[in-house]
This record gives sequence, C-alpha cells and structure tokens, in this order.
Amino acid sequence: MAEASPLYQTYMRAPLRFERGEGVWLFTENGERYLDFAAGVAVNSLGHAHPHLIEALTAQAGKVWHLSNLYDVPGQETLGRRLTEATFADRVFFTNSGAEALECAIKTARRYHFSKGHPERFHIITFEGAFHGRTIATIAAGGQEKYLEGFGPKAPGFDQVPFGDLDAVRAAITDATAAILIEPVQGEGGLRAASNEFLRALRKICDDNGLLLIFDEVQCGVGRTGKFFAHEWAGVTPDIMAVAKGIGGGFPLGACLATEEAASGMKAGTHGSTYGGNPLAMAVGNAVLDVVLADGFLDHVRDVALVFRQGLASLKDRFPDIIEEIRGEGLMIGIKAKIPNSELLMAMRDEHLLGVPAGDNVIRLLPPLVTTAEEAREGLARIEKAAEHLHEKLAVTAQNEGR
Ligand SMILES: *Cc1c(COP(=O)(O)O)cnc(C)c1O
Repeated sequence: MAEASPLYQTYMRAPLRFERGEGVWLFTENGERYLDFAAGVAVNSLGHAHPHLIEALTAQAGKVWHLSNLYDVPGQETLGRRLTEATFADRVFFTNSGAEALECAIKTARRYHFSKGHPERFHIITFEGAFHGRTIATIAAGGQEKYLEGFGPKAPGFDQVPFGDLDAVRAAITDATAAILIEPVQGEGGLRAASNEFLRALRKICDDNGLLLIFDEVQCGVGRTGKFFAHEWAGVTPDIMAVAKGIGGGFPLGACLATEEAASGMKAGTHGSTYGGNPLAMAVGNAVLDVVLADGFLDHVRDVALVFRQGLASLKDRFPDIIEEIRGEGLMIGIKAKIPNSELLMAMRDEHLLGVPAGDNVIRLLPPLVTTAEEAREGLARIEKAAEHLHEKLAVTAQNEGR
C-alpha cells in the first residue's frame, strides 16, 4: 500500500474493485466476471443496470433533482399511494435509509402513546440477534454489544428478549411499554425466520395490551421472500413498518409505513428530512414497483427460490462437513456453515460468486429478484465447486493429522 487511505477504517473490505454491473453480474476493472448474490446486501433488487430503472432515473435527472419537502414533490403521492394500496398502511414517510425508516417507526410509536396522554409509554420490546441500523437509537434497539460499545450510554427504552420466546415477551411488558419491534426474517442475525405462529401471537399480545406492532422489513421486504412483504406469509399486519434496501434498487430510499391510527401522533412539525422523498428517489422507487408489482413477478421469485432451495438441500446432503443447515425464506437464503463461514465465503469468492456473511456462522445469499433459474443453477454449480475444494482440503488435513 502506497499512501494511507483517507477513509474511516470502519469496513473490512474485500480486495475487489468493480466498475460495472449488468443483471446478476459484476465486472472488475480488469474484466473478471462475478455472479453477484450479495446484491449490495439485498439492495440491488432488480440487479445491476436495469433498463427500466436507468430510464426512470435519467428522465427525472433532466427535470428536477431536489425540491425539499416545503413543496409537493413529484412522485411522492404516487409512490405513497402504491405502497398504501398494496399494504396494511394508510400513511407513508419517506427516508433515505433503513435506519432512518426505523427512527421514524420508533418516533411514530412513542408519539402515538404521547398523544393519547401516555408519555411514559416509550419502551419498545426487541429481540436478540436483531439488527435495525447504526444510529444511536437503532443500535440500542438492536441491542448488540459489538455495535454499542464505546458510543456512550445506550439509548433508553429498548427491552430485549430471546427471539421466538413468547413467555419472555409477555414478562417484559410493563405500563411503560409502547410497542414490539421485530424483523419477520432476521438478516444480519443469521437468516432466522420468525414462525407464522409467533408473528400471529405477537399481533394478539399487542392487541390485548394496547401496544403497537412494528415490523422491520428493510431487508426481507419488497419481494425478497416471494411476497411483497414477508409478514404476508403469516397473514398478520403490523401497525408500523420500516422499509428500505430493495425498494430503491440501489438508489438510497427508505420508507416508514403506518396505519392512520398509529400515525395519528405525527402532526405537522413533529418529523422531517431534507432529502427524504427526493424526486430522483421517487422516480426510481416507482420504477422498482412497476417491476415488482407486475403480474407474475412474485411467482417468478418463488419459482427461482425453489430452484435454490432444492439445489442447496442436495449440496447440504452431499457436504455435511461443510454445510450444516439451509434457512431463510424465498430469495433470502442462509447457508449455516460447519466450518467458519468466512472460509466458505472465501471459497465461493474463488469461484467468482459473491455472498454476504451473517451472524450465527451463516452466509447470506441475496440474489437479485430478477435472477433466472439458469443463473440460479450457475450459482449452485459454483457453490458445489467451492464445497468440493473445501471438502478435499478437510480430507487432506485429516490425513496429515493421521486420522
Ligand atoms: C440494513 C438494515 C437496516 C439498516 O438500514 P441502513 O440503510 O443501513 O440504515 C435496518 N434493519 C434491517 C433489517 C436491515 O437489514
């Protein structure tokens, strides 16, 4: 390395430099091709350089980039209406990121109880293994020590219980509880999906205790699991929901959705964002929904997910020394590794396939939703090669150790 980097050294970056993408492929500066099943951590929902998104963004770029929320912003009403018509929600607040969507969700829940005369009800129950972002409030909500350490006192009002433990949820409820916050499928935490029964039970607990139910669908939403939103599988709806990542297809865009009742405390002046709902973001968000909400698109996601599911199940059977378990939902796929997940990830990268590490020794595959069955099989073949190499290496090691 010649000069020290001018950047914060907060990321452990892989030594890869991509300059161009096309569909599910990324191309390095020296022309090498990688199958991108990381998809910018579930952001590139329609892959790279999707013609419809390029058209939407460039057309808007020639008109107006930014206005501020002092005026009606082109595209906000349209995207807001499409989101409310396709979901439980009546109201939408646009943000630039997932953490900001969560901040809005947390503020909406607290403000709801405040406006009902209960300012003391500001506690939110969250779950172990959660990830809700990196702001001061969302690291407190996520509750992970590695993200909290050194950043001063943990923001108050977040009470964490084990994932899937209903008795612990009930025991954590007090007169100060405002809401329950959960990812229907945990992403960073290791692709753990809440059961349908668990989500239904949370809905009932909220109804029985006057609590608001908040879903964080920043990663699992917008078609990722084969439904528009993951909670649809359970047949329950939240009162508030945070959305981001896939909805922007690569343009920074998030949204907080709420029912009329849940949003009733958010009066003029209570919240705002300079960039949130910017015209460029609205143009791209609308274009993403043109594709994701088109007839048959989610069927396609479910079909391709099945190809992955079956292929990975057989790889798990063939390589029990490498793969422990396959988890997740739809195209939010987790491979729990028997060996350190970093080694499997590296072996996959050697086969020019990109994934994302997650907690609990899991590798995430988050292929673009436009991935074809053929591309899925190409990815499976590469994972198979990676597993074969690792398997051979294990055999050699065992032999050298005289076992
Ligand atoms: C990525 C993520 C966030 C944070 O989103 P940012 O855009 O990075 O702020 C929050 N919740 C979940 C479930 C996520 O996956």
